[in-house]
Amino acid sequence: MIIDTHCHLDDSKFDSDLEDVIKRAQENGVEKFIIPGADPKTIDKAVSIAESHNNIWFAVGVHPYDAQEYSPDFIEKYITHNKCVAVGECGLDYYRLPKDSKMADEIKELQKDVFISQIKLADKYAKPLIVHIREASQDSKELLMKYSGNRGGVLHCYNANRELLKFSEKGFYYGIGGVLTFKNAKKLVETFPLIPKDRLLVETDSPYLTPHPYRGKRNEPAYCRLVIEKMAELSDMQIDELEKICEENTEKLFALSSYRD
Ligand SMILES: [Zn+2]
Repeated sequence: MIIDTHCHLDDSKFDSDLEDVIKRAQENGVEKFIIPGADPKTIDKAVSIAESHNNIWFAVGVHPYDAQEYSPDFIEKYITHNKCVAVGECGLDYYRLPKDSKMADEIKELQKDVFISQIKLADKYAKPLIVHIREASQDSKELLMKYSGNRGGVLHCYNANRELLKFSEKGFYYGIGGVLTFKNAKKLVETFPLIPKDRLLVETDSPYLTPHPYRGKRNEPAYCRLVIEKMAELSDMQIDELEKICEENTEKLFALSSYRD
């Protein structure tokens, strides 16, 4: 069984045909789904999708781009819901910082405060973290090393590098998605074989980051299969072995079967 550990099924791009999307995923062996929290405006939609499907779970979090909207109360309102399996996605993203260095520093500080608060809440409620890191490996590493507890999490990172590999020692997993199939994904392709197999998870980040050969179109969980096929091509494991180990890893991290409707 394949589990899409990161798909934004609450995105408006799925409003008109969500049930078809889920059906196509199942036809491709993708049978469970985790909706990460990203946009506070759509969390209630994520909750209702999770409540109406016994194979869908959600996480609550505030993305670094929405750091201004963060409040700890928002996380605590949802974290004890019986389908809420994690805190995230949260993290640091320095990709779109303004040119003005004073403004850039202010945004970085705000992102860090918001990230630290979410790391601490995850620890308090013993939930794993779903971490988004973009062009901020060093700062992310420092904060996670300092504040995260024993529960670990997943690094949802499309630009994995050796720096981030050290996190496996601290209980972190690596979410591998469509970027692995991109023709220009040299860094991730090089790093992938170095990731311990018992730390691999599959994800799509649907509707974004659509794998080759569908780049440019809407991404959907069915395409997890293309990611697994690419993983098999780059490793010494067969597709069914990879499916199995990713499923086991997902259960270890998120304990999906311990959540009841
Ligand atoms: Zn995402």
